[in-house]
Amino acid sequence: AKKKHARSVQTRFTEDMINIIEDDLLAEMNLRKGLDLNEFELFYQPKINSFTGEIIGFEALIRWNHPEKGLIPPLNFIGLAESTGLIIAIDEWVIEQAFIQLEKWKEDGEQDYTLSINISPRHFLHSRLNQCLKNCLEQYKINPRQLVIEITENVAMEDFDKVKNRISELQQLGFSVSIDDFGTGFSAFHYLQHFPIQEIKIDRQFIRDIANNEVSKGIAKTIIDLANLLKLNVVSEGVETIEQWKTLKKLGCPQLQGFYFSRPMPIDELQLWLNKHEQGRVPLH
Ligand code: C2E
Ligand code: MG
Ligand code: MG
Ligand code: MG
Repeated sequence: AKKKHARSVQTRFTEDMINIIEDDLLAEMNLRKGLDLNEFELFYQPKINSFTGEIIGFEALIRWNHPEKGLIPPLNFIGLAESTGLIIAIDEWVIEQAFIQLEKWKEDGEQDYTLSINISPRHFLHSRLNQCLKNCLEQYKINPRQLVIEITENVAMEDFDKVKNRISELQQLGFSVSIDDFGTGFSAFHYLQHFPIQEIKIDRQFIRDIANNEVSKGIAKTIIDLANLLKLNVVSEGVETIEQWKTLKKLGCPQLQGFYFSRPMPIDELQLWLNKHEQGRVPLH
């Protein structure tokens, strides 16, 4: 009886494993299909000048418009895309969309907007990244200064020289590089000093209680001061209240992003939002 019990546990275990593998395969197939059927969409969130309210540009954030499941946020599929390697194709799709959008803005006489995109750590060191960006530069007539490439701190913790070389290459092509979610990874001052980056973004966990927690406020202040010292742009993400805006303005943070100004929007909605802010700025408090 003991043996039989052991076997059934074993069988159950195997069945569970098979189910997991089947689920993964299915998920991967679906993701691939989503890409082929053009089910992905970029949403745009404005970046605001903290002192003037001016609209500086936007961050493009991907969503998956699944025919049955509806709008799927990136955190629900980026992990799978990274582990299957599909992230490279997805990121390349994002890059091309960003160029297309920048070219459209240029045709509309909006030559100054910046557009930030997120590149996965897995893709950042890949040789295809440069190739893709170079191809797009040839195909679309935009100023590379307008494209900001966001990478997370953890990328910086990989091979220091490789990351530094890649950032230098991107800089030579004219793009800006930004360190996203700053403060959540293995923040090291070493790379901030030696990488030719243009921007850091303070993670929203430090912004969340900035108006009533002295430690969070102190951390934000320290990052802002550090950015000033290094002559880097600094953006606070996750600004949801006017109190947070006021606090960040006092701390001297030049750029802000967050639901207080706007959630990420599909392109049509963004156009309406821009029409509503025809002076090119949001109202100051
Ligand atoms: P992220 O780059 O740090 O993007 C900021 C996230 O915070 C976005 O979530 C945005 O919708 C959300 N957010 C913005 N303002 C606020 C706010 O005031 N309050 C709160 N609670 N949240 C706010 P989202 O769009 O779900 O993206 C999550 C992450 O997925 C991104 O973090 C980025 O790491 C990744 N991601 C998004 N799009 C892409 C992409 O095209 N490619 C790659 N590789 N990763 C992407
Ligand atoms: Mg980002
Ligand atoms: Mg971020
Ligand atoms: Mg984040």
